[in-house]
Amino acid sequence: MKILVPVKRVVDYNVKVRVKKDETDVELDNVKMSMNPFDEIAVEEALRLKEKGIASEIIAVSIGLPEVQETIRNALAMGADSGIFINCTSRLEPLSVAKILTSICNKIKPDLVIMGKQAIDDDMNATGQMLSAMLNWGQATFASKLEIQDKKIKVGREIDGGIENIEVILPAIVTTDLRLNEPRYASLPNIMKAKRKPIDEIKIEDLNIDTEPRLEILKVEEPKSREAGIMVKSVDEMIEKLKNEAKVI
Ligand code: AMP
Repeated sequence: MKILVPVKRVVDYNVKVRVKKDETDVELDNVKMSMNPFDEIAVEEALRLKEKGIASEIIAVSIGLPEVQETIRNALAMGADSGIFINCTSRLEPLSVAKILTSICNKIKPDLVIMGKQAIDDDMNATGQMLSAMLNWGQATFASKLEIQDKKIKVGREIDGGIENIEVILPAIVTTDLRLNEPRYASLPNIMKAKRKPIDEIKIEDLNIDTEPRLEILKVEEPKSREAGIMVKSVDEMIEKLKNEAKVI
């Protein structure tokens, strides 16, 4: 079984994101970048399937500027076998990413694509779903449990108030939720080994895909800062304030 894992380079989740002065985007200069955490979970799940003898090959793919090769190397250091780097300088929205991944899937024919449920930079939560529609493959989104049985996968999906268990025929798309697993750290020997693993480069122009944006970012704003709290002297005072000032009860 061949598994494709799309990995996105995003602002590290520990970084306090700042909005650019001109409000067109968030500040990316001198900011620590890392693999999208949901994609780390996807790589980990693929590795576990390989360790169980179910998967035979794991390919990590990333689309973007040359720096995204660093993210692919991280996936290789975790244990993926090879990488595909789609060299693309323009900003891409989920529709374009899904079209590019469709083209890659048609080329390398994976049995399973495991990817993040969302990228933590723009929280689109759309690429996996679009990819599934374009390929006409089944999808299991928000996976918190995954089991492969012959040509099917059983997936536990995190939904409001519980877990929904579904079965999907392969090939399929799975998008990962936070509780699926805890990703491993790459060991030093594996980081060294990853340097020798192959990364194929494909230029976006060679894929002949329309990546013209369909959406425009009008403005990026900081969230409203929280007002300072106040100390109350008694429960009665708190109830009075919740009722008459905050008007929440
Ligand atoms: P999104 O729909 O933008 O929230 O992203 C969902 C998932 O799509 C991510 O977790 C990645 O697995 C994949 N993805 C999005 N953008 C890229 C990219 N530029 N390169 C590789 N994978 C991507």
